[in-house]
Amino acid sequence: MILFRFGFVLCCSLVAMFTFSVERAVYAATTYSSVYIEIREGNTDYSVNVPATWTDYGNGEDCGNTAHKTSKGGRFFGHIHFSVTLPVNGVVVIGATTTSKTVTTANVKAYWDNKYGSNYTSSGGENPNYNCWGYAFGNSIWIQDPSYIYADDYSSTQTPVAGCLIAQSGHVIKVSEVGSNESKKVVTKTSEKNRYSGIYNRTYPLPDGGNFSSFYEKKP
Ligand SMILES: [Zn+2]
Repeated sequence: MILFRFGFVLCCSLVAMFTFSVERAVYAATTYSSVYIEIREGNTDYSVNVPATWTDYGNGEDCGNTAHKTSKGGRFFGHIHFSVTLPVNGVVVIGATTTSKTVTTANVKAYWDNKYGSNYTSSGGENPNYNCWGYAFGNSIWIQDPSYIYADDYSSTQTPVAGCLIAQSGHVIKVSEVGSNESKKVVTKTSEKNRYSGIYNRTYPLPDGGNFSSFYEKKP
């Protein structure tokens, strides 16, 4: 379980995972020409490099789309204009052996089904073009840095309510249902997305519910 959770840290960042050596100039969009997508075939995971043109915009950088600003503060948040269509052929490098593989919705789902495991239920919705934050904030884009969004459009709360967010390091989870443990509200259902995955849901039984903290509610 520890390893599983560690694996999700920084999972939502396209750049941090694969291009960490690239130094991005402040306020200068960077364009890339390929991306790694994880798949699973048989009992083996692969990381497949596929062609995809995508542009990375930093916090405060004007991408030309006013929908990519915070609602309350009007600030452009760090995000990526990213689009890849499945199926797509790519290259996987294993040791000295190079193999071509096709990334499909099915083998991406197989990877994430295995990663999440039997505690989670997939509700489909596979879409490689937005990540956990894009799902949780509801704008379906690939968000690299959620800090402006949390600061401008959300406020911290001690009490979970349906629809609020659980902010984690490099990840976010939506609360989809709460229950009561005596007078205390606890998380009983969650929903999340991870990188190229579909939507994964989990139920946490009463009386304790899920053990979460750091809840954020959207500002009215
Ligand atoms: Zn944009």
